[in-house]
Formats: sequence, structure tokens, C-alpha cells
Amino acid sequence: MTDDPCADSGSGECREALTELYQYLDGYLAIERRTIIKSHLDLCGQCGSSYEFEFELRQVVSRRCSDQVPERLKARIFQAIVEAQYEG
Ligand SMILES: [Zn+2]
Repeated sequence: MTDDPCADSGSGECREALTELYQYLDGYLAIERRTIIKSHLDLCGQCGSSYEFEFELRQVVSRRCSDQVPERLKARIFQAIVEAQYEG
């Protein structure tokens, strides 16, 4: 994973973005933080993928909030994200 731009720990932007990802998804971040996180998610493929995965997962979970999300379905979503990452 040495050719991964996100693996470069020179800036803490990725860590910051991922740390605040859940608050971002929940809408708890202040508008200026949202703007910063959003621009990072747009620019950074890896953080963007993490965001998309969490977002999709939440959609599925909230749609089936009374049921349990089948492991099979979660695995399929995760698989789709991983495949998209390798294709890109
Ligand atoms: Zn990043």
C-alpha cells in the first residue's frame, strides 16, 4: 500500500476527515467544518470511498431499521465499494 497517497502521513487531513466522518454523516458538524471535510472527501479518493461506504450502509440500515441487516447484504455493499476502488 505504499503507492497510496493517503498512506502518506505528512498531513493529518485524512485522519481528521475520517475522525469527523460520523459527525459529518449525522449532520453534527458546524458548517465550516462540513465545508472542510466535504472538500477533502471530494479530493481524496480513499476518504471519499469510506464516506460513500458509510453513507450507503446508513441508507440500508435506516431503510430496514426494524429488521436486522443481513450479513450477506453488508458484504455485497462492501464488495461493491472495494471493486469500485480497484477499478478506479
Ligand atoms: Zn483522505
